[in-house]
Amino acid sequence: MAQQNSSCQYIPTDQQKMGVPLIYGENLSHIFHAKQDVVAVDKVDFGIAEGKITAIIGESGSGKSTLLKLIYGVLEPSSGEVRYRGWLVPTRKDKLIPGHDAMKLVSQGFDDLNLYAKVWDNIASQLPNTNLSLKESKTRETLDRLNILHLAQQRVADLSGGEKQRVAIARALVNEPEVLLMDEPFNQVDAAFRDALQQDIRQIVEDTGLTVLLVSHDPTEVLAMADELIVMKNAKIIEQHSPTKLYYEPNHSYTAQLLAKSNILSSDQAALLGISSNHTIGIHQEDVTFAENLRGTFHVKDIRFRGFYKELILSDGSLTLHAILHPLSNIAIGSNVEIHIKKYITFV
Ligand code: ADP
Ligand code: MG
Repeated sequence: MAQQNSSCQYIPTDQQKMGVPLIYGENLSHIFHAKQDVVAVDKVDFGIAEGKITAIIGESGSGKSTLLKLIYGVLEPSSGEVRYRGWLVPTRKDKLIPGHDAMKLVSQGFDDLNLYAKVWDNIASQLPNTNLSLKESKTRETLDRLNILHLAQQRVADLSGGEKQRVAIARALVNEPEVLLMDEPFNQVDAAFRDALQQDIRQIVEDTGLTVLLVSHDPTEVLAMADELIVMKNAKIIEQHSPTKLYYEPNHSYTAQLLAKSNILSSDQAALLGISSNHTIGIHQEDVTFAENLRGTFHVKDIRFRGFYKELILSDGSLTLHAILHPLSNIAIGSNVEIHIKKYITFV
């Protein structure tokens, strides 16, 4: 719950009284004063809902990690503010130990873990010795929640990437923060174990009401997990919505490319497909259907193996389109095809 902190200035706003997001940012910027000034976050506004999973997505260098650090309070805003339950988030200059008390950050890599200590000790060390039986039961409960109780006596150094990440999350959660922040949490987790970890995090959110905010440069890995996505491009937030809304109805071609690897066409290129539009359009790969036809104007330039589907590269000499190849189709490189566009998105 919100605690009075002498360094926090409390200004309840009308928005807050109406039950607004748990965390919100207004006109928030951060400039790194390096050899050349770098505007890493540029006048952004956002809201993070309580008890939900929000993912900040965007290409490398778009400002995701900087935004996360501003929210946590380990970086100072150059302008604007971040509020948590209506309270200004204290920053380094206000606080001896950086980081908001109600939040915990799991950083990239495993910097916070003691690799040569046992899993159990990495978690238990976060709790005070004032009540040893509580320390024991909380450690056990947290390891159990993350499904790593069986690893308790192993050294962290001997674990897989996915297991280490579970330890890092358990360590962050043992003191029951209200918000868990994670920077690229699935980077070092094998794809085969990613889904289970994501489902476990979802379960914790459902069971405890925890708020999760995570950063990812590969949105396909968080699409199934997040309730809300914040899209960053060149230090700006360009849109924020549910994954389904942003997948099917993005406002920006950048979002369509990021989420769906969509084909982005200028209005001139669209005209070549018989689509008349004054604006750029996006065609998701699954919306390009095709059939083998000797007189078809497109031909199959390449077929890329993607695991449970294949990606087809189609070309008519001037235009290149990417499509999903249905597993049973026997189309080969060089085949001529006739294409049909099921639907497209217009970017105004
Ligand atoms: P992302 O997490 O999306 O990859 P970052 O927030 O790390 O992006 O970085 C945003 C921009 O700020 C980049 O151009 C990056 O080079 C720059 N940047 C990040 N950290 C620093 C720093 N400590 N000093 C100077 N520039 C930085
Ligand atoms: Mg980053």
